[in-house]
Amino acid sequence: MGDTCAESVKECREMVRDFARAEIAPHVREWDDKAYFPVEVFRKLGELGLMGILIPEEFGGTGLTYRHYVAILEELGAVEGGIGLSVAAHNSLGTNHAYMFGSDEIRKEWVPRLARGEVLGAWGLTEPEAGSDSGATKTTAVRQGKEWILNGTKNFITHAGTGGAAVIMARTTPGKDHHGISAFFLPLNSPGVTVGKHEDKVGMRVSDTASLILEDCRVGEGALLGREGDGFVQAMQVLDGGRISIAALSVGIARGAMDAAVSYAKERCQFGRPIAAFQGIRFKLADMATEVQAARLLTERAAEEKDGGRKTTLISSQAKLYASEVAVRAGENAVQIMGGYGYCKDYPAEKFWRDAKLCTIGEGTSEIQRLVIARELIGE
Ligand SMILES: Cc1cc2nc3c(=O)[nH]c(=O)nc-3n(C[C@H](O)[C@H](O)[C@H](O)COP(=O)(O)OP(=O)(O)OC[C@H]3O[C@@H](n4cnc5c(N)ncnc54)[C@H](O)[C@@H]3O)c2cc1C
Repeated sequence: MGDTCAESVKECREMVRDFARAEIAPHVREWDDKAYFPVEVFRKLGELGLMGILIPEEFGGTGLTYRHYVAILEELGAVEGGIGLSVAAHNSLGTNHAYMFGSDEIRKEWVPRLARGEVLGAWGLTEPEAGSDSGATKTTAVRQGKEWILNGTKNFITHAGTGGAAVIMARTTPGKDHHGISAFFLPLNSPGVTVGKHEDKVGMRVSDTASLILEDCRVGEGALLGREGDGFVQAMQVLDGGRISIAALSVGIARGAMDAAVSYAKERCQFGRPIAAFQGIRFKLADMATEVQAARLLTERAAEEKDGGRKTTLISSQAKLYASEVAVRAGENAVQIMGGYGYCKDYPAEKFWRDAKLCTIGEGTSEIQRLVIARELIGE
């Protein structure tokens, strides 16, 4: 990447940092307490071009690089992880899947609306009995004349309740492992779509997570994304990009936790000195800073690989695994550094800790990332 890109990434990062400080930071506590989904923030993010980050301008997006994308998510994560999670799910999953594999009609009719943030995108892979084992998808899509009829339940879907459209992975051939799964584009106001249970989550509380129930839900032939039977492979390709975004979000959360811990350690006095004077605290801060930097470099490297058009399965999983675990450690250490205050909601540390934990679960748990990394390593 040349200097022009580096300069543009820097400007973009500063713009998002200013926006997050002005429009999000003052409300973090209240929105988290109420698990409030701030739809107005997403409209504004749309106006800033942050809801179609990876989508070319001709389809209503901003056509930025993954290097921009990771900087944007780091800045959002450092202030409000849940907003970062929603931005990541909308951009990399729902919108990107529709753009990458959608027909000309979907690209013309829906992608620009998604990319401008007029409609929020959802992505439905997970099911009650198909979590890590997503190849065990039970939702079915049966062809009837010129339509497909979808039936099933999707669990833990970001924007199930607030989204306007979703990409749904459904089984089109019974019993044919993951090659029997196809992807469909589904407007969420279609007859037969019901929003199920809204999850009352430990962290990422501002992000909307609910189940989607599909009962005899009819979509036209054009709703099939790419070829029949390719849905699972498409989903894995989409996750290669998505995991980079979760890594970036994790870096942001870890940095937010570290910054809060540093400020507190400089202010809080015990034994007649700021606790930042104690070596035990300094070692924790030093480890946090080193891990945050390592996670950022790994994530930026994954972004560069993606921008270069290379396959990123290995490095996406490595970045996601490492950065998410760094974020959890940073959150926990920030709580520890703040002592009893860290354990209370008046201070930001406990929220970083709660938000960080999701990053080790969503878009594939840490265990699944290790399986992917080992598979790539062994060459299976
Ligand atoms: C806030 C939130 C948002 C989400 N958003 C979306 C979304 O928008 N779309 C979507 O499709 N999904 C979404 N998910 C679902 C998420 O991707 C799944 O929760 C995740 O993949 C894990 O699946 P599971 O919860 O069923 O856990 P399980 O698969 O039941 O796993 C339970 C435990 O077993 C471990 N495990 C499972 N298999 C193995 C194995 N082979 N080896 C070792 N350990 C194993 C797991 O690592 C985990 O520790 C979201 C989840 C949350 C919490």
